[in-house]
Amino acid sequence: MSFEEKSLQCSDCGATFTFSVEEQEFFQSKGYTNEPKRCSSCREARKSERYGSGGSGGYGYRSPRQMFPAVCAECGKNTEVPFQPREDRPVYCSDCYRKVRPSR
Ligand SMILES: [Zn+2]
Ligand SMILES: [Zn+2]
Repeated sequence: MSFEEKSLQCSDCGATFTFSVEEQEFFQSKGYTNEPKRCSSCREARKSERYGSGGSGGYGYRSPRQMFPAVCAECGKNTEVPFQPREDRPVYCSDCYRKVRPSR
């Protein structure tokens, strides 16, 4: 079975994008029967959103978290934290938090 490039319209941004031969082969190899509904950039945006960590996106449907004013235990800067600060636990500004607790 051979494929031809198709022009599809993105259901998210309305842009016309190409459903390339490679992608069609990929879709078929995965057993997908539907054509993609979104252009690659919208797919990327959704993917990165699903895996969290902000980044690109900007959909803004998430309700803002309540922030509590706090003073950084490291540098003394005024900051805000997404939880009620407790007397017995140090609170760090985002810069110091990264220093104090490296993510890896
Ligand atoms: Zn799009
Ligand atoms: Zn700090």
